Amino acid sequence: MSKIEYYSTNHCSPSVSFREALIAGQAPDKGLYIPNYIPTLSKDVIWGFSEKNYFEIAYTVINNFLQGEIPEADLFALAKDAYNFDVPLEQVYDRNYIMRLDRGPTASFKDFAARMMGRMIQYFLKKDNRKMLILTATSGDTGSAIANAFYGLDNIEVVILFPKTEVTDRQRKQMTTLHKNISVIALDGKFDDCQAMVKKAFADKDLQKLDLSSANSINIGRLIPQSVYYFWAWSQLASNADDKIIFSVPSGNFGDLMGGILAKHMGLPVEKFVIATNENDEVPVYFRSGSYKTIEPSRNCISSAMNVGHPSNMARIITLYGGQMDEKGNILKEPDVAKLKNDMTAFSVTDEATRQTIREAYNSYNLLLEPHGAVGWKGLHDFYAENPSYKNPYQLTVTLETAHPAKFPQEIKSILNIEPELPASLSQLDNKTEEMTDMPNNYEAFKTYLLKR
Ligand SMILES: *Cc1c(COP(=O)(O)O)cnc(C)c1O
Repeated sequence: MSKIEYYSTNHCSPSVSFREALIAGQAPDKGLYIPNYIPTLSKDVIWGFSEKNYFEIAYTVINNFLQGEIPEADLFALAKDAYNFDVPLEQVYDRNYIMRLDRGPTASFKDFAARMMGRMIQYFLKKDNRKMLILTATSGDTGSAIANAFYGLDNIEVVILFPKTEVTDRQRKQMTTLHKNISVIALDGKFDDCQAMVKKAFADKDLQKLDLSSANSINIGRLIPQSVYYFWAWSQLASNADDKIIFSVPSGNFGDLMGGILAKHMGLPVEKFVIATNENDEVPVYFRSGSYKTIEPSRNCISSAMNVGHPSNMARIITLYGGQMDEKGNILKEPDVAKLKNDMTAFSVTDEATRQTIREAYNSYNLLLEPHGAVGWKGLHDFYAENPSYKNPYQLTVTLETAHPAKFPQEIKSILNIEPELPASLSQLDNKTEEMTDMPNNYEAFKTYLLKR
């Protein structure tokens, strides 16, 4: 088979290798990189994953996309180093499970992508003796995962923008207490403003000399590692090679979901993806009405990492299903909607329902969820309500719990009146000094800051 190339969803810049896509982040025409074909794994290989460690599965999946761009022994070592923590699956009732993606250093699922991407970027930079400035916008958890993934590396500087009033104290401290090569900007604006600022910087010719790269969910280097835990879940739970699974994925920028879609296209037996959003319901509305409208400004919900009015990965999903969407969210060519709807369905969950779900899950099953995972769990049950035939003791489902409940102590306390115990990675933050730069929502101020560094 010919070599995988990565092309832009806007179709106006040349195709590149994995390495070039990883280093560039975004394509020059403002599109997102996507592989020209998705490698498939045989049933035997996938079934064989039940005998493997997480990092071994990661190595196999990622190696199929890289096709030797990182020599196999090196890639294996990177995967082993990146994935040195547990990925627990918790049975709730019948064959309905929660996958806890919160055992990494920042207690969020973003660690899975960031740690592997960081190691791959460092591998290529070292080889070329190059430096790089990583710019990233965060609504809370990406920033700390990126910061931790790149912290202390000599050839990489990181600048993180976050919306001043939209992240929790703990999320902020995870970024501002690191120092060294990690700089943090508190922007007087919303997450969408942070994201727009970063996108503008990438397109700015005056900044090209800075060797900018992105580490947001727009980087293909994040998506491929995110397909691995879907294989992991299935390998741990499937009872035979054709056992089909329903995944419920709490979604904001749809990077997590894109990982799942890649896994399905690689051959993982997936019955359906349930896309669960908060009140930013542009995608559920699109699935129902066929018309896509971004939400500006995005709505502020308690599942704050999903306050996204236009998911950056939507263009990739539309492309994978045969359509085209530009970076502003205009659909230039309709995708195969029937196929899209066959593979996935979408539900929006209100804050009120999110709180109610946290309460009910705890009271009925002793299941502790935080707001993002609760949106996923509720989304699954909304799906059951619409499709009762799936609600049977044989159907295997996995809902992704994307953060540790202790990251949302006020919310959990007000709903359940308990204080979730902090994982070790978070318990030392309160004693450390914070460092950040306050900034108005003004691109020139941001540009000046970058040029002065
Ligand atoms: C980022 C994030 C999400 C949303 O993930 P996307 O890939 O943007 O869809 C969900 N939950 C948590 C805790 C997050 O940090």
